[in-house]
Amino acid sequence: MSTETTVATAVDVASWMQEVASAVEAEATHLTQLDSAIGDGDHGVNMTRGFRAVVEAVDGSQPPGKQLITAGKTLVSKVGGASGPLWGTALRRAGRSLGDAPALDGPALVTALDAALAGVVELGAAEPGDKTMVDALGPAVAALRASVENGGDLGEAIASAAAAAEEGARSTVPMQARKGRASYLGERSVGHQDPGATSSALIVAALGRALGPRG
Ligand code: ADP
Ligand code: MG
Repeated sequence: MSTETTVATAVDVASWMQEVASAVEAEATHLTQLDSAIGDGDHGVNMTRGFRAVVEAVDGSQPPGKQLITAGKTLVSKVGGASGPLWGTALRRAGRSLGDAPALDGPALVTALDAALAGVVELGAAEPGDKTMVDALGPAVAALRASVENGGDLGEAIASAAAAAEEGARSTVPMQARKGRASYLGERSVGHQDPGATSSALIVAALGRALGPRG
């Protein structure tokens, strides 16, 4: 008989939000440079301010769905740029999709990120290829779902989602922006990586540093 045991893992939402806040702060200058090229240069500041406020607001003793709803509401109220309402809606929808689920395990994370993506698409109406955060988040959700459905362990599933998100962010370089501020530039938006897709990849990657025992 095998003595191997699989340790069930889940994402701790408060840790995820802390990891996101650290990551966007560490990359704030880069995000702002990207947004200076094809936008108004506030993306690093927007994300840092927003997720710092989220860390302050989220109560880690609450169920994961409630924490995500608080995080989303906080982003909507604290961030003026497009990324505030978009990520705010994403996290609120993710939270609502979980109901009272006690843990953000693999299947729950698929449900939550699926709802997050649907919320972004509903609010912003971006399609794949429009050079937005959808180009990072879409492939990430697909990779996560495929890995979880194949019975992959949550850490591996998140790693494949993070790789897909990063590749998705890089894939925005040759795209022409069709949504958001960057679309005003028309063809001049080609040749630059989308800031929102770049920060979305950071947000997905941060999941991998927020894993803990389930429940
Ligand atoms: P703003 O453009 O208002 O200054 P930010 O700089 O914080 O806001 O965020 C810009 C990012 O928001 C873009 O790089 C893009 O990824 C994302 N974005 C903008 N509009 C949309 C949209 N309609 N759908 C999805 N993402 C969008
Ligand atoms: Mg901007």
